[in-house]
Amino acid sequence: LGSSLRGTLETLQGKTRLSEEDVEAVVREIQRSLLQADVDVSLVMELSDSIKTRALKEEPPGGTSARDHVLKIVYEEMVAIVGESTEIPLEPQTILLAGLQGSGKTTSAAKMAWWFSKKGLRPAVIQTDTFRPGAYDQAKQMCERAEVEFYGDPDESDPVTIAREGLEATEDADVHIVDTAGRHGLEDELIAEIEEIEGLVSPDLSLLVFDAAIGQGAKEQARQFEEAIGIDGVMITKLDGTAKGGGALTAVNETDSSIAFLGTGETVQDIERFEPNGFISRLLGMGDLKQLSERVERAMSETQAEDEDWDPEDIMKGSFTLKDMQKQMEAMNKMGPLDQIMDMIPGLGGGLMDQLPDDAMDVTQNRMRSFEIIMDSMTEGEMENPRGVGASQVRRISRGSGQDEETVRELLEQHKMMEQTLKQFQGMGDGDMQRMMKK
Ligand code: GDP
Ligand code: MG
Repeated sequence: LGSSLRGTLETLQGKTRLSEEDVEAVVREIQRSLLQADVDVSLVMELSDSIKTRALKEEPPGGTSARDHVLKIVYEEMVAIVGESTEIPLEPQTILLAGLQGSGKTTSAAKMAWWFSKKGLRPAVIQTDTFRPGAYDQAKQMCERAEVEFYGDPDESDPVTIAREGLEATEDADVHIVDTAGRHGLEDELIAEIEEIEGLVSPDLSLLVFDAAIGQGAKEQARQFEEAIGIDGVMITKLDGTAKGGGALTAVNETDSSIAFLGTGETVQDIERFEPNGFISRLLGMGDLKQLSERVERAMSETQAEDEDWDPEDIMKGSFTLKDMQKQMEAMNKMGPLDQIMDMIPGLGGGLMDQLPDDAMDVTQNRMRSFEIIMDSMTEGEMENPRGVGASQVRRISRGSGQDEETVRELLEQHKMMEQTLKQFQGMGDGDMQRMMKK
């Protein structure tokens, strides 16, 4: 999983512009990863469309590879759907947990209580599950392990009574976490019961607890709980298993809420606050996308801030001088050493690196550095009109920069190649240009 996405991205290496086929290929692999991770089909389609539109419309900034640019778009569009984590103020509040039987509510109640206690608050768990035999003992034990206050009543059969008495009994606590009963499926009885409990405790936060393996059933569940009590956030449990929890995205989208916590094991400490980057990277089976996205962002803004006169778009209209090439190289350097950028995408970095001779990356980087030094030794006129640089100037530049004449000629050659490529685009009508870019 994810490896074919990496494979597809590898084929984009070195491209500065993506064709429609390139974008289609990337989107197809993303779709595959997301569907395998149980993300809802219509959500996947929606996401595909927005990625496609942006990837074809927006141009990669100078010095940014098309691949990095498309990954940045993917990351941003995913964040838009996944959202930031649910805001949990560190103050007195009441939290109600809802969800089907076995989803992990009781475990999560104790985990959250543990989490709040570590933040310096005084939590209490109130167990209202009178449906499942053993629910009281289980909750009590978990709360002992978490070293947090617990209330339950094994002799009382009405969950609403337990909730009321529990709130009174634990009134010294800051944070009340109310655990509820689940059922095997969505039954009217369950919904009626949780509506009543909700009415009594009037929670500040109602969280829906999901097993990461929930899959496509998430939509209907989320809709019903949303209708009954209004869902403010989601907790995804059992993320320590193989399931990636993509169903939660459906729930978040359906309830217009966000993800609050992740459960990553059976002990009370196995709880994490949700954080979009890790979750998205995991869904796609990719490395740290946020870091990459931020680097592209930085390269963009720094290039722009430094030289307001320099606009990558101008290259398409006028001539491509050595100055333009210098700007592109500077922007690339700001993203950090090439091998590091590639390493941020595990598999991609590793895979491609293995295929290259050991010092291939070094050569590229050294060559770039030489080019920079050479350009520093060139006059303004030579930079503007590199075609006019003759043999005697090459000798002078070589001496001035301490670089071989051969390297100076390579730089001029490289510039000529880039200029010729760009020339093919110039002189076309806008329509031709767009058609060609979409190819
Ligand atoms: P409830 O019926 O919704 O209250 O669910 P429980 O809290 O009783 O959890 C059901 C089962 O899932 C129990 O065996 C838990 O130990 C297990 N469980 C809950 N959360 C996690 C988790 O994050 N990881 C793992 N591996 N198991 C979990
Ligand atoms: Mg339970």
